[in-house]
Amino acid sequence: PSALREGFATTPSTTFADIGALQFHIDTLKNTLIRPIIYPSLFASLGLRSTASVLLWGPPGNGKTLLAKAVANASHANFISVKGPELLNKYVGESERAVRTLFSRARSSVPVIIFFDELDALVPRRDGMNSEASNRVVNTLLTELDGVGASREGIYIIAATNRPDVIDPAMLRPGRLETLLYVGLPGEEDRVDILRTLCKRFETLEFSEQLAELARSCTRFSGADLESLVRQASYAAIDRFCRENEAANVPSKGGALVTLEDFRVAKEK
Ligand code: ATP
Repeated sequence: PSALREGFATTPSTTFADIGALQFHIDTLKNTLIRPIIYPSLFASLGLRSTASVLLWGPPGNGKTLLAKAVANASHANFISVKGPELLNKYVGESERAVRTLFSRARSSVPVIIFFDELDALVPRRDGMNSEASNRVVNTLLTELDGVGASREGIYIIAATNRPDVIDPAMLRPGRLETLLYVGLPGEEDRVDILRTLCKRFETLEFSEQLAELARSCTRFSGADLESLVRQASYAAIDRFCRENEAANVPSKGGALVTLEDFRVAKEK
Protein backbone atom coordinates (compact mmCIF):
# COMPACT_ATOMS: atom_id res chain seq x y z
CA PRO A 1 0.00 0.00 0.00
CA SER A 2 1.05 3.59 -0.62
CA ALA A 3 1.39 4.31 3.10
CA LEU A 4 4.26 1.88 3.33
CA ARG A 5 5.88 3.43 0.32
CA GLU A 6 5.40 6.93 1.60
CA GLY A 7 6.16 6.16 5.23
CA PHE A 8 9.85 6.86 4.76
CA ALA A 9 11.63 9.35 6.92
CA THR A 10 12.81 12.57 5.32
CA THR A 11 14.08 15.91 6.57
CA PRO A 12 11.82 18.70 5.32
CA SER A 13 13.37 21.89 4.03
CA THR A 14 10.44 24.08 5.17
CA THR A 15 11.46 26.56 7.87
CA PHE A 16 9.54 29.01 10.04
CA ALA A 17 10.73 31.77 7.69
CA ASP A 18 8.48 30.22 5.02
CA ILE A 19 5.42 30.69 7.21
CA GLY A 20 3.50 33.95 7.43
CA ALA A 21 1.53 34.95 10.55
CA LEU A 22 0.93 32.01 12.97
CA GLN A 23 3.47 33.40 15.47
CA PHE A 24 1.49 32.12 18.45
CA HIS A 25 1.42 28.66 16.88
CA ILE A 26 5.16 28.70 16.25
CA ASP A 27 5.87 29.74 19.85
CA THR A 28 3.58 27.04 21.22
CA LEU A 29 5.20 24.38 19.05
CA LYS A 30 8.66 25.50 20.18
CA ASN A 31 7.68 24.88 23.79
CA THR A 32 5.67 21.72 23.36
CA LEU A 33 7.67 19.90 20.70
CA ILE A 34 10.93 21.43 19.58
CA ARG A 35 12.48 21.81 23.03
CA PRO A 36 11.43 18.31 24.16
CA ILE A 37 12.98 16.90 20.98
CA ILE A 38 16.23 18.84 21.32
CA TYR A 39 16.62 18.46 25.12
CA PRO A 40 14.98 15.13 26.04
CA SER A 41 17.14 14.55 29.12
CA LEU A 42 16.37 18.01 30.49
CA PHE A 43 12.70 17.15 30.51
CA ALA A 44 13.36 13.67 31.88
CA SER A 45 15.44 15.13 34.74
CA LEU A 46 12.32 16.89 36.00
CA GLY A 47 10.16 13.85 35.53
CA LEU A 48 8.43 15.28 32.48
CA ARG A 49 7.44 13.14 29.58
CA SER A 50 9.20 14.28 26.47
CA THR A 51 6.90 12.48 24.05
CA ALA A 52 4.62 15.45 23.59
CA SER A 53 2.06 15.26 20.82
CA VAL A 54 -0.02 17.94 19.15
CA LEU A 55 -3.28 18.01 17.21
CA LEU A 56 -3.54 20.85 14.70
CA TRP A 57 -7.10 21.42 13.62
CA GLY A 58 -8.95 23.84 11.41
CA PRO A 59 -10.11 24.50 7.84
CA PRO A 60 -7.93 23.32 4.92
CA GLY A 61 -5.03 25.29 3.50
CA ASN A 62 -3.98 27.40 6.46
CA GLY A 63 -0.60 25.99 7.32
CA LYS A 64 -1.02 22.79 9.35
CA THR A 65 1.31 20.84 7.07
CA LEU A 66 3.75 23.75 6.84
CA LEU A 67 3.94 23.98 10.64
CA ALA A 68 4.54 20.25 11.02
CA LYS A 69 7.36 20.30 8.48
CA ALA A 70 8.97 23.39 9.99
CA VAL A 71 8.94 21.78 13.44
CA ALA A 72 10.81 18.77 12.02
CA ASN A 73 13.29 21.07 10.31
CA ALA A 74 13.90 23.20 13.41
CA SER A 75 14.34 20.21 15.72
CA HIS A 76 16.48 18.22 13.26
CA ALA A 77 14.05 15.34 13.57
CA ASN A 78 13.18 12.90 10.84
CA PHE A 79 9.74 13.36 9.37
CA ILE A 80 7.30 10.66 8.33
CA SER A 81 4.11 11.91 6.72
CA VAL A 82 1.05 9.71 6.34
CA LYS A 83 -2.50 10.51 5.37
CA GLY A 84 -5.03 8.70 7.56
CA PRO A 85 -6.88 7.02 4.69
CA GLU A 86 -3.65 5.60 3.25
CA LEU A 87 -3.28 3.30 6.22
CA LEU A 88 -6.74 1.84 5.82
CA ASN A 89 -7.03 -1.43 3.99
CA LYS A 90 -10.09 -3.53 3.43
CA TYR A 91 -8.38 -6.80 4.25
CA VAL A 92 -8.77 -8.07 7.80
CA GLY A 93 -5.87 -7.02 10.00
CA GLU A 94 -4.00 -5.14 7.28
CA SER A 95 -4.75 -1.65 8.63
CA GLU A 96 -3.52 -2.55 12.11
CA ARG A 97 -0.46 -4.05 10.54
CA ALA A 98 0.17 -0.83 8.60
CA VAL A 99 -0.02 1.17 11.86
CA ARG A 100 2.42 -1.19 13.60
CA THR A 101 4.79 -1.15 10.62
CA LEU A 102 4.71 2.63 10.64
CA PHE A 103 5.74 2.77 14.31
CA SER A 104 8.43 0.14 13.92
CA ARG A 105 9.84 2.10 11.00
CA ALA A 106 9.68 5.25 13.16
CA ARG A 107 11.55 3.48 15.98
CA SER A 108 14.44 2.93 13.63
CA SER A 109 14.76 6.64 12.81
CA VAL A 110 14.39 8.46 16.14
CA PRO A 111 14.12 11.31 16.88
CA VAL A 112 11.22 11.35 14.48
CA ILE A 113 7.96 13.19 13.97
CA ILE A 114 5.08 11.19 12.56
CA PHE A 115 2.68 13.56 10.84
CA PHE A 116 -0.81 12.08 10.59
CA ASP A 117 -2.76 14.16 8.10
CA GLU A 118 -6.54 13.56 7.97
CA LEU A 119 -6.39 11.79 11.32
CA ASP A 120 -10.21 11.67 11.52
CA ALA A 121 -10.29 9.05 8.74
CA LEU A 122 -8.00 6.79 10.74
CA VAL A 123 -9.49 7.08 14.22
CA PRO A 124 -13.21 7.88 14.07
CA ARG A 125 -15.17 7.72 17.31
CA ARG A 126 -15.65 4.16 18.45
CA ASP A 127 -19.39 3.81 18.69
CA GLY A 128 -22.14 1.55 17.40
CA MET A 129 -21.95 3.23 14.01
CA ASN A 130 -18.43 2.13 13.26
CA SER A 131 -17.30 -1.24 12.19
CA GLU A 132 -15.37 -3.62 14.32
CA ALA A 133 -12.47 -3.15 11.88
CA SER A 134 -12.25 0.57 12.48
CA ASN A 135 -12.37 0.06 16.26
CA ARG A 136 -9.40 -2.27 15.98
CA VAL A 137 -7.41 0.40 14.16
CA VAL A 138 -8.15 2.93 16.92
CA ASN A 139 -7.05 0.41 19.57
CA THR A 140 -3.85 -0.36 17.72
CA LEU A 141 -2.94 3.30 17.40
CA LEU A 142 -3.69 3.92 21.10
CA THR A 143 -1.44 1.00 22.05
CA GLU A 144 1.38 2.46 19.97
CA LEU A 145 0.86 5.95 21.39
CA ASP A 146 0.93 4.62 24.95
CA GLY A 147 4.16 2.78 24.20
CA VAL A 148 2.68 -0.52 25.39
CA GLY A 149 4.91 -3.38 24.29
CA ALA A 150 7.42 -1.23 22.44
CA SER A 151 8.80 2.08 23.68
CA ARG A 152 7.72 5.34 22.11
CA GLU A 153 10.92 7.09 23.14
CA GLY A 154 11.93 9.64 20.52
CA ILE A 155 8.70 9.33 18.53
CA TYR A 156 6.71 12.56 18.44
CA ILE A 157 3.28 12.95 16.89
CA ILE A 158 1.71 15.83 15.04
CA ALA A 159 -1.77 15.11 13.75
CA ALA A 160 -4.00 17.29 11.60
CA THR A 161 -7.71 17.31 10.95
CA ASN A 162 -10.54 19.48 9.67
CA ARG A 163 -12.99 17.49 11.81
CA PRO A 164 -11.84 17.17 15.43
CA ASP A 165 -15.41 16.33 16.47
CA VAL A 166 -15.31 12.93 14.77
CA ILE A 167 -12.01 11.83 16.30
CA ASP A 168 -12.25 9.21 19.03
CA PRO A 169 -12.01 11.14 22.34
CA ALA A 170 -9.61 8.56 23.75
CA MET A 171 -7.02 9.96 21.31
CA LEU A 172 -7.08 13.26 23.16
CA ARG A 173 -6.23 11.98 26.65
CA PRO A 174 -3.02 13.04 28.42
CA GLY A 175 0.05 11.34 26.99
CA ARG A 176 -1.65 11.01 23.64
CA LEU A 177 -2.61 14.14 21.66
CA GLU A 178 -2.35 16.48 24.62
CA THR A 179 -2.08 19.84 22.95
CA LEU A 180 -4.81 21.08 20.64
CA LEU A 181 -3.96 24.01 18.43
CA TYR A 182 -6.51 25.73 16.22
CA VAL A 183 -5.19 26.89 12.85
CA GLY A 184 -7.90 29.11 11.42
CA LEU A 185 -8.36 31.42 8.47
CA PRO A 186 -5.92 34.33 8.58
CA GLY A 187 -7.19 37.74 9.66
CA GLU A 188 -6.56 40.97 7.79
CA GLU A 189 -3.00 41.60 9.03
CA ASP A 190 -2.21 37.87 8.90
CA ARG A 191 -2.98 37.95 5.18
CA VAL A 192 -0.53 40.82 4.72
CA ASP A 193 2.15 38.84 6.50
CA ILE A 194 1.43 35.66 4.52
CA LEU A 195 1.50 37.50 1.18
CA ARG A 196 4.73 39.23 2.17
CA THR A 197 6.22 35.84 3.05
CA LEU A 198 5.08 34.26 -0.22
CA CYS A 199 6.47 37.21 -2.23
CA LYS A 200 9.92 36.83 -0.68
CA ARG A 201 10.58 34.17 -3.29
CA PHE A 202 10.64 36.84 -6.00
CA GLU A 203 13.74 38.94 -6.35
CA THR A 204 11.84 41.07 -8.85
CA LEU A 205 9.00 41.94 -6.53
CA GLU A 206 9.09 44.70 -3.99
CA PHE A 207 6.35 44.20 -1.39
CA SER A 208 4.57 47.53 -1.33
CA GLU A 209 1.93 49.22 0.78
CA GLN A 210 -0.46 48.74 -2.19
CA LEU A 211 0.14 44.99 -2.13
CA ALA A 212 -0.50 45.02 1.61
CA GLU A 213 -3.77 46.82 0.93
CA LEU A 214 -4.68 44.19 -1.67
CA ALA A 215 -3.99 41.42 0.88
CA ARG A 216 -6.24 43.15 3.42
CA SER A 217 -9.05 43.21 0.87
CA CYS A 218 -8.85 39.43 0.22
CA THR A 219 -11.59 38.66 2.71
CA ARG A 220 -11.87 34.98 3.72
CA PHE A 221 -8.85 33.91 1.66
CA SER A 222 -6.98 30.98 3.15
CA GLY A 223 -3.18 30.73 3.05
CA ALA A 224 -3.55 28.35 0.11
CA ASP A 225 -5.79 30.88 -1.65
CA LEU A 226 -3.08 33.52 -1.20
CA GLU A 227 -0.53 31.13 -2.63
CA SER A 228 -2.78 30.60 -5.62
CA LEU A 229 -3.08 34.38 -5.99
CA VAL A 230 0.70 34.70 -6.20
CA ARG A 231 0.83 31.88 -8.74
CA GLN A 232 -1.86 33.46 -10.92
CA ALA A 233 -0.12 36.84 -10.77
CA SER A 234 3.11 35.16 -11.84
CA TYR A 235 1.40 33.51 -14.81
CA ALA A 236 -0.02 36.88 -15.83
CA ALA A 237 3.46 38.43 -15.67
CA ILE A 238 4.97 35.64 -17.74
CA ASP A 239 2.18 35.93 -20.28
CA ARG A 240 2.78 39.67 -20.63
CA PHE A 241 6.55 39.18 -20.87
CA CYS A 242 6.23 36.54 -23.60
CA ARG A 243 3.73 38.56 -25.60
CA GLU A 244 5.91 41.68 -25.48
CA ASN A 245 8.87 39.59 -26.54
CA GLU A 246 7.01 37.95 -29.38
CA ALA A 247 5.74 41.31 -30.63
CA ALA A 248 9.21 42.87 -30.48
CA ASN A 249 10.69 39.97 -32.40
CA VAL A 250 13.94 40.36 -30.48
CA PRO A 251 14.14 37.99 -27.54
CA SER A 252 14.86 40.06 -24.47
CA LYS A 253 16.91 38.73 -21.61
CA GLY A 254 15.89 39.52 -18.08
CA GLY A 255 12.84 38.11 -16.36
CA ALA A 256 9.15 38.69 -15.96
CA LEU A 257 8.30 41.46 -13.53
CA VAL A 258 5.22 40.74 -11.41
CA THR A 259 3.33 43.99 -11.03
CA LEU A 260 0.58 45.18 -8.75
CA GLU A 261 -1.73 45.09 -11.77
CA ASP A 262 -0.98 41.35 -12.19
CA PHE A 263 -2.10 40.84 -8.61
CA ARG A 264 -5.29 42.82 -9.23
CA VAL A 265 -6.11 40.72 -12.30
CA ALA A 266 -5.32 37.52 -10.37
CA LYS A 267 -7.55 38.55 -7.50
CA GLU A 268 -10.47 39.17 -9.84
CA LYS A 269 -9.97 35.67 -11.27
P1 ATP B 1 -5.05 20.66 4.67
O1 ATP B 1 -6.02 20.65 5.81
O2 ATP B 1 -5.71 20.76 3.32
O3 ATP B 1 -3.99 19.58 4.74
P2 ATP B 1 -3.12 22.57 5.66
O4 ATP B 1 -3.65 23.40 6.76
O5 ATP B 1 -2.20 21.45 6.00
O6 ATP B 1 -4.31 22.07 4.74
P3 ATP B 1 -0.90 23.59 4.17
O7 ATP B 1 -0.66 22.39 3.31
O8 ATP B 1 0.03 23.81 5.28
O9 ATP B 1 -2.39 23.57 4.67
O10 ATP B 1 -0.94 24.90 3.25
C1 ATP B 1 -1.19 24.82 1.88
C2 ATP B 1 -0.36 25.85 1.14
O11 ATP B 1 -0.86 27.17 1.42
C3 ATP B 1 1.09 25.88 1.59
O12 ATP B 1 1.88 25.04 0.82
C4 ATP B 1 1.48 27.33 1.44
O13 ATP B 1 1.88 27.60 0.12
C5 ATP B 1 0.18 28.07 1.66
N1 ATP B 1 0.06 28.57 3.05
C6 ATP B 1 -0.92 28.25 3.93
N2 ATP B 1 -0.75 28.91 5.08
C7 ATP B 1 0.36 29.66 4.94
C8 ATP B 1 1.08 30.54 5.81
N3 ATP B 1 0.66 30.82 7.06
N4 ATP B 1 2.20 31.12 5.33
C9 ATP B 1 2.63 30.89 4.08
N5 ATP B 1 2.01 30.04 3.23
C10 ATP B 1 0.88 29.44 3.64
